[in-house]
Amino acid sequence: RAAEQGGNRFQFYADEMNSTALQRLMLESRLRRALEQGEFVVYYQPIVSVADGQILGVEALLRWFHPEIGMVSPSEFIPLAEETGLIVPIGNWVLGVSCRQVRRWQEQFDRPNLRLSVNLSARQFELDDLPATIANVLRETNLAPELLELELTESVVMGDAEEAEQRMEDLTAIGVRLAIDDFGTGYLSLGYLRRFPIQALKIDRSFTTEIERDHGSLTIVKAIIGLGENLGMRIVAEGVESQAQLSLLQALRCTEVQGYYLCRPLPAEEIMNALQATSLPLIKG
Ligand code: C2E
Ligand code: MG
Ligand code: MG
Ligand code: MG
Repeated sequence: RAAEQGGNRFQFYADEMNSTALQRLMLESRLRRALEQGEFVVYYQPIVSVADGQILGVEALLRWFHPEIGMVSPSEFIPLAEETGLIVPIGNWVLGVSCRQVRRWQEQFDRPNLRLSVNLSARQFELDDLPATIANVLRETNLAPELLELELTESVVMGDAEEAEQRMEDLTAIGVRLAIDDFGTGYLSLGYLRRFPIQALKIDRSFTTEIERDHGSLTIVKAIIGLGENLGMRIVAEGVESQAQLSLLQALRCTEVQGYYLCRPLPAEEIMNALQATSLPLIKG
């Protein structure tokens, strides 16, 4: 295209920039409308006990069903939602919907201890009224606070450590649990890990995926499990895709797993079958 315009490279770049800016703007206004139009859906993925295949809880994972494009993955719109602050109303909507849904499942399947995990972005974590907002949602939906686990990434809690610690304590004061998501990919120091009120570590998928092939990944997974045992934290391995990975994790005494091998994230209607079963088929053959 630059050649067609007689080598006017500046024009070429300006056009490119404009279209990118325009695309962003369009996406932003679409994202803004998506919530009002009811285009978001919460999917759920089971978190399973390695010991007996029982579903201990579900993680809420957001999906956007764009009328023309179809399903849009959160990795494509969450970064923009975070930048624009739209993640705050969207995140509150996810919390309300998923707390109500899990409470309903607890009653329907007589599973009063079924847990819910919800991802929190930095923009939400920074808000002074987050604990009050969450306490309200819990009261309205009647979900027990200790059955709600908020997932934070290492980067979310990395900013000002003192402030992060205070925020975490404000959250745990209302009774909710905290987990570190994608653990092992960030720079959270072990000192903070010990100090912060964190109940669970989720081993990042990149380590689980490589666990059989790469000795380094196996070593990291072992170390995280040992760390969790010694700090009194639960360990959840994310992204389990095969029986071989599952068996290895079992041998390493990892207690909770999540991944396509056990169950994909599914809409509420479809996950009922998995919830109705007493356990997922963990040990095959
Ligand atoms: P995450 O919290 O680490 O969620 C796990 C991601 O791994 C999900 O991607 C899930 O679908 C995917 N996954 C689960 N098992 C497997 C597996 O066996 N193999 C592979 N390849 N992938 C697996 P998803 O649903 O696309 O979400 C991506 C990220 O978007 C999430 O990562 C989370 O950081 C963010 N996200 C999703 N929903 C929300 C939300 O409601 N609020 C916020 N703030 N972030 C969200
Ligand atoms: Mg997560
Ligand atoms: Mg993760
Ligand atoms: Mg993540």
